[in-house]
Amino acid sequence: MTDTTAPVLELRGLRKSFGDQEVLRGIDLAVHRHEVICVIGASGSGKSTLLKTVNLLEGIDDGQVLLQGEDISDPRVDVDATRARIGVVFQQFNLFPHMSVLDNVTLASRKVHRASRPEAEAIARRLLDRIGLGEFAGAFPDRLSGGQQQRVAIVRAVASDPELLLLDEVTSALDPQLVGEVLDLVTELKQQGSTILMTTHEMHFARNVADRIVFLHRGEVVEQGTPAAVLDTPQHPALQAFLARVH
Ligand code: ADP
Ligand code: MG
Repeated sequence: MTDTTAPVLELRGLRKSFGDQEVLRGIDLAVHRHEVICVIGASGSGKSTLLKTVNLLEGIDDGQVLLQGEDISDPRVDVDATRARIGVVFQQFNLFPHMSVLDNVTLASRKVHRASRPEAEAIARRLLDRIGLGEFAGAFPDRLSGGQQQRVAIVRAVASDPELLLLDEVTSALDPQLVGEVLDLVTELKQQGSTILMTTHEMHFARNVADRIVFLHRGEVVEQGTPAAVLDTPQHPALQAFLARVH
């Protein structure tokens, strides 16, 4: 049952192992409406796995994933219908190379949400215009720079107005000069009220845009708080060491 007073996303005691390696070791986390949460942590700390469990790309071994109060980790849940409520963008290879930019953006709305083609295309063109890529609607993704492709991927993810947006290191594969335009789009989505759970190595961005930063260490949330608290007065030695490495 959807509960509009519940957090958009709530993780309770989430555990996940690959073989005998426990990658998520009891994660508790709530993401409230209009919040932007940045998950930081060393490579291998479990950030991507965490996002994948939310999107039901990875099953969990224990705990619960609640979307608007509904337990989506329940095996009886409709996986496709649930995924349609969540927008996702990964580090790379997000767009279908054999489809035009416009078709990429409208695909989910047409297939999953059963919008009519004219309806879906009108929304897609408006979104593409807003990010300055309207002229590329008919082009194939390989005509676009990496930064432009990621912006299209983000626009595609929000085209059907998802309840939650998951972004997994969406700028990590980009040349440094293309990072800003993608993060600016994320900032704009926050201003428009999107609810976002994202992983990033861009500490400057996290400081300026995140409502809360969550530090993951070996599959556990060992510290979280406002950007100032987490970045300026880190308490946990692992967080202190991590920040010394990335700054
Ligand atoms: P991060 O995104 O923080 O770098 P990941 O969630 O990708 O971390 O990985 C956490 C740990 O889980 C790593 O040790 C990784 O090798 C392991 N892992 C991730 N996915 C799989 C998988 N499908 N099978 C086996 N091990 C995996
Ligand atoms: Mg990762």
